[in-house]
Amino acid sequence: MAEKIQMVAGQLVTPKEPIIPYIEGDGVGPEIWQQAQKVLDEAVAIAYQGERKISWQKLLAGEAAFVETGQWLPPETIDIIDDCLVAIKGPLATPIGEGIRSLNVALRQALDLYACVRPVRYFPGVPSPLRHPEQVAVTVFRENTEDIYAGIEFAAESPEANELIAFLKESFAVDKIRFPETSAVGIKPVSIEGTQRLVRSAMEYAVSQNKKVVTLVHKGNIMKFTEGGFRKWGYELIAAEYGDKTFSMREYEKIKKAAGKAEAEKEKAAALKSGKILINDIITDNFLQQMLLAPQDYQVVATLNLNGDYISDALAATVGGIGISPGGNINYQNGHAIFEATHGTAPNIAGLNEANPSSVILSGVLLLEYIGWREAAQLIEVALEQTITEKYVTKDFADLMADAHEVGTAEFGARIIAAMDS
Ligand code: NAD
Repeated sequence: MAEKIQMVAGQLVTPKEPIIPYIEGDGVGPEIWQQAQKVLDEAVAIAYQGERKISWQKLLAGEAAFVETGQWLPPETIDIIDDCLVAIKGPLATPIGEGIRSLNVALRQALDLYACVRPVRYFPGVPSPLRHPEQVAVTVFRENTEDIYAGIEFAAESPEANELIAFLKESFAVDKIRFPETSAVGIKPVSIEGTQRLVRSAMEYAVSQNKKVVTLVHKGNIMKFTEGGFRKWGYELIAAEYGDKTFSMREYEKIKKAAGKAEAEKEKAAALKSGKILINDIITDNFLQQMLLAPQDYQVVATLNLNGDYISDALAATVGGIGISPGGNINYQNGHAIFEATHGTAPNIAGLNEANPSSVILSGVLLLEYIGWREAAQLIEVALEQTITEKYVTKDFADLMADAHEVGTAEFGARIIAAMDS
């Protein structure tokens, strides 16, 4: 019997036949989703020999919703996801000039999905600009609800911007706005709670997945109180809640000051040898260099919204781009989660059977892991890896690979299913 997934005493409880709502999405959405749904169903059927299955519930959002209901994001869609906890979606076109900034942002805000989780790993054979892409295995935890994405922005020369600039000048003696008459202004809220719930998610992941390094990425050298606050509150949370499981570079600095570098190095080596997780931090621009030069040094990254946006796509590019990188937007406190293809609607190739369905398929893998169906998730990952290793790939990869067998979206999906069946 189809039942809803529930959160009971802080734990997700998945029935044998969970109702999982899905949004096909716009553009290439329907064609990639069709393959993902077949792959997920097959994996579950094989892994649990018919004992478990997903009861899919189709929901409307984006262009399809607008055509059918006159609304881009019908309230019913949010209500059902709210009720069923866990959902998956394809890409949605952002309506231009309709007063909604982005449907994705609207969904994340409506359900307070504060952690955007993007695991970035290499599948052998995928074209990459790096010499050693196999060294990339990083999961990015991007704060999803704060920062300049809060949407508090006023246009240049608007009464609101003029008033705000005048207020800053009069009340706080702000005289650093270079062109006050023609400046647009935005506000960047970053809170203790917002930072700490995100950093806690990254830490829970690191502990449960046996990771060795967690890195706070920030621009605190310039934005002392917002990005610097993220760093400070992140370290404080980790010291308070994970002090016995971690060794932080803040502790290292304290020991170094008191007892010298040799002693600090000794304590660090001993802590890491005993299995503790290393906690460090890095300025965003340096991180963007280091992730290309020394990707092996990073495993879990916790960062603010805008940094996370840039970092996730740049990291994805090192292992084959957005066509293969999955994502999840999660509230670990109440269980709500929406897994999604991280690319857009790719209107230039929609309907051509050319799109790479890997991003949405791997988002499905994240969903299966999230609901505790790891065996099915594992089957898909292995089958996808095998298909790419055998060089059966969609056009985006085939164009960059020597001796590739270029296949369409549907055949790529069929090959993954065949690989699982065998
Ligand atoms: P896009 O990601 O749709 O396309 C960028 C490039 O990547 C294009 O060349 C496209 O063909 C290619 N591409 C994307 N996905 C691919 C796939 N699965 N396989 C092969 N190639 C793929 O970005 P865009 O053109 O800037 O945006 C188009 C629309 O998508 C806009 O309306 C935008 O707002 C929306 N968008 C939605 C999301 C989302 O729903 N999460 C994310 C980004 C953009």
